[in-house]
Amino acid sequence: MYPDPMLIHGGQVLRPGRFTVESLDILVEDGRIRDLVAPGSVRADGMQRFDATDRLVIPGLVNGHHHAQAQLVKGRFDAVNLELLLNGQRWSNAQRTLEDKYLSALIGASELVRKGCTATYDMFAELPMPSAEGVEAVARAYSDVGMRATIAPMMSDRSFYEAIPGLADALPDALRRQALAVKATPHEASLAACRKILESWRFDRASIRPALGPTIPHHCSDAFLTGCRDLAKEFDVGFQMHVAESRLQAVVAPRIYGKTLVAHLDSLGMLGPRFCVAHGVWLDDDDQARLADRGASVAHNPGSNLKLGSGVADIRRMLDRGINVAIGTDGSSASDNLNVFESMRLASYLSRVQDHPVDRWVTAPEALHAATQGGARALGFEKIGRIEKGCMADLTFIDLAALHYVPANDIVAQLVFGEDGTGVDSVMVGGRLILDQRRLVNVDLPKMRAKAQEAVARLSAANSESRALSEALAPFVGRFCSGLAASPLSIHRFCGHQGGSHA
Ligand SMILES: [Zn+2]
Repeated sequence: MYPDPMLIHGGQVLRPGRFTVESLDILVEDGRIRDLVAPGSVRADGMQRFDATDRLVIPGLVNGHHHAQAQLVKGRFDAVNLELLLNGQRWSNAQRTLEDKYLSALIGASELVRKGCTATYDMFAELPMPSAEGVEAVARAYSDVGMRATIAPMMSDRSFYEAIPGLADALPDALRRQALAVKATPHEASLAACRKILESWRFDRASIRPALGPTIPHHCSDAFLTGCRDLAKEFDVGFQMHVAESRLQAVVAPRIYGKTLVAHLDSLGMLGPRFCVAHGVWLDDDDQARLADRGASVAHNPGSNLKLGSGVADIRRMLDRGINVAIGTDGSSASDNLNVFESMRLASYLSRVQDHPVDRWVTAPEALHAATQGGARALGFEKIGRIEKGCMADLTFIDLAALHYVPANDIVAQLVFGEDGTGVDSVMVGGRLILDQRRLVNVDLPKMRAKAQEAVARLSAANSESRALSEALAPFVGRFCSGLAASPLSIHRFCGHQGGSHA
């Protein structure tokens, strides 16, 4: 059920294409934009009215990569790279009740909406394996907040310690035994759970869609990957994977597969328009060509890539090749605030410290396109990400009195480079107000906060032994993985990384 027809009047509306800003009124019906008309040209008899005077109306931002489970461990990781973060995954995600899973997703959705985002790709992990109940709890959190999501259960059938060649052997005997004692769930069980999730999906796919998330190629057997491929096809869903995120992954791929991760995924028939790479920091020219040829997307997570020291993905080359690029925040254990505005700004700025001439830097409109329409395509939602007749009325209202618009010279540049989320006044999804003058309409924040503190205290106690093991392992994991990551790269020159070729 959508709200009554509505006239949004008096606003400055960001139009797609070249991103012009025009004074327009917006007619909304059945959750969609029915028309865009000259200000004051339509009488709103019998319609709801929404006053957007002094507001910039932009399409709700779309977050290309995120993890619902990460909110309950925000602030727990400072100086860790990806491998050390993965070393901490067991204690940080284990022992969660269904209520915890819902709560963690709710906190993330609330922060995203508060910062102007209306849809997210969520690789949601639960231990020891995905469950229909867990994914349903996360979907319910998004539904309750009122935002859209594509939810991909994140999974693997090799433990972290099995997935990195040589890592287990580098651990002291006692620690190795403990590290290897916890096995990853066999892929048959995870695939069966995913089948159940897809068969029993009860949410409207126009709002909340299922997908699949085999986490990292070499953390999954080929049988698991092709099983996901077939399941995705059977149920017409997409999938997202972390691919070529860290230098270590680029180093180990030729040792395991004799080729890059992307080349291996391509040989398994994984790549296609429904496939979304998360990160893609360490891609070579051939990888980018394959992704472009197959119509795949890349979700660029510049904040996470900086925090974990993963590197800087070369989205300039991706855009030039025609790869669909989305912008992501990643989960809040990897880049702590869920602010797509910040990610968008970083995406543009970081393109300027790579080996590109000034006239090929990623501009404000290009970054904005990635954070809206690029994200929409990556998530598999056709009718969001732009303010256009027939599209869903997923709208973010920006207060033009916020200081970063004073004086207003070039609104698009000031939005991309200056907006930090503090200018977000209201947010609608499908014409329904979910953030009203900075207040989350559907979330009881004090209650959520109290529950979060209670959950953290309980989970910290329940996972203390597992955390102690992870901390004991950390020096060995850190030393071994850093050494492995520093090995020569035997393939081609990696896009965007000076000195990436040691061939
Ligand atoms: Zn991730």
